[in-house]
Amino acid sequence: MDTPEGSMVHGPKAMLQQLPSVDRLIRDPANAALLRAHGATFVTQAARALLQHTREALCAGEVPPPATDEAALSAALAARCQARLAPRLKTVLNLTGTVIHTNLGRAVLAPEVMLHVQATMTGSNNLEFDLASGRRGDRDSVVEDLLCEITGAQAATVVNNNAAAVLLTLAALAQGREAIVSRGEQVEIGGAFRMPDVMASAGAKMVEVGTTNRTHLTDYARAIGPETALLMKVHTSNYALQGFTASVSEAELAPLAHAHGLILATDLGSGSLVNMVDYGLPPEPTPQAMLAAGCDVVTFSGDKLLGGPQAGLIVGTREAITRIRQFPMKRALRVSKLPLAALEATLRLYLQPERLRRDLPTLRWLTRESADIRAMAEALCADFQEALAPHYTATVVALQSQIGSGSLPIDRLPSAGLALKPQGKQGQGRALAALAQALRALPQPVIGRVEDDRLLLDLRCLDDPAALRAQLPAVRAALLAQERAR
Ligand SMILES: *Cc1c(COP(=O)(O)O)cnc(C)c1O
Repeated sequence: MDTPEGSMVHGPKAMLQQLPSVDRLIRDPANAALLRAHGATFVTQAARALLQHTREALCAGEVPPPATDEAALSAALAARCQARLAPRLKTVLNLTGTVIHTNLGRAVLAPEVMLHVQATMTGSNNLEFDLASGRRGDRDSVVEDLLCEITGAQAATVVNNNAAAVLLTLAALAQGREAIVSRGEQVEIGGAFRMPDVMASAGAKMVEVGTTNRTHLTDYARAIGPETALLMKVHTSNYALQGFTASVSEAELAPLAHAHGLILATDLGSGSLVNMVDYGLPPEPTPQAMLAAGCDVVTFSGDKLLGGPQAGLIVGTREAITRIRQFPMKRALRVSKLPLAALEATLRLYLQPERLRRDLPTLRWLTRESADIRAMAEALCADFQEALAPHYTATVVALQSQIGSGSLPIDRLPSAGLALKPQGKQGQGRALAALAQALRALPQPVIGRVEDDRLLLDLRCLDDPAALRAQLPAVRAALLAQERAR
């Protein structure tokens, strides 16, 4: 603490007078490198903000008083410049146990995919230019052949996301007319996407059939009338109906739809392009199976099980896709060149299925053996113990991962990880929140999940344990700092 005499000599007033001007601060030789790196505009703005902040703190009598000598101010200026330029979007370690986590950016792109993005985005490209004829081309052609080859579709198009794919499909094929959907498939997917609202936005009149738990073929047949344009199936990806239930499959609906000259569309959502069962995973309908069952249009996401960028993929018959592509709303929902490049490179991996388990991060993580995950947890546990002692303990635990993003809601994958538990009975909630916060504040934030008074780190999606281990000293420092602040 300052002595009374000390605070008279170095008191806020004297400190205020000692503050350099903006000009003097940026001319300080200590800041020459900063100026060279960022230019005068940026550094001057930061210096002005720093001095303003320091002045306000001194006037408010802040204790301890902010640094006012030029060496400390120069250091603060460099830190402020660095902080202002730090990206908001950064990579985090997803140890939540949910592999495709919507809040954490869903599917992680393969390194090879990013090389293609880098190579095609740092120059002009042939996005809408046909190199063979020299004429204007269509951006869909970047991926259409690939999608058709992989799914067996006659034609394909791509939009911004699957919500857009469903909206556009309904608008293009059923606007001003009726679309029939089962009451068991009136789903809401992540707040803003509710099937009845999407139908309304598309200008289609929704005709509901069946009941919440049971819908039969005759329900659809009875609802078909002169205004009907389309039968809509929705994959109930984020909830499961169990018990006394019945729904009508696409294969059963297709003959009914086609006998009446109607379109059969199905919204798959996650839409894996491989048979998940071949990888020891729970079954999930594929676009290829839906097309084989007779669907005219199938929509699915690019960044769920497919493991690519955000995109909405629409595959189907040439006639239906042409109508969708020519509908004016398509222009507003079209995909940009950046995700399109990522999608192309991701789809190319599917031409070489043997590579997928190794090279597609989503599939690699989903198929990881729990014994391997446990071995990683065991190798890390002692280091965690040491970093967190004495206020927390770390133990290796068996966990259940989720696929996530609404796919396969009831299925769990056996996994393993670390359980971090506060010592002592008192203030456990606060101690857990403090630990979770320290992990989130790391240079590469670590995101776990809180369950049963423990912070759980599921290591299924951890590729590089060394990167996690290297951050442990920073965790320890943060916990000590928190303790001192208390
Ligand atoms: C995820 C999902 C959507 C929305 O897809 P986005 O790509 O997030 O827009 C729509 N329908 C179903 C069935 C889904 O699972």
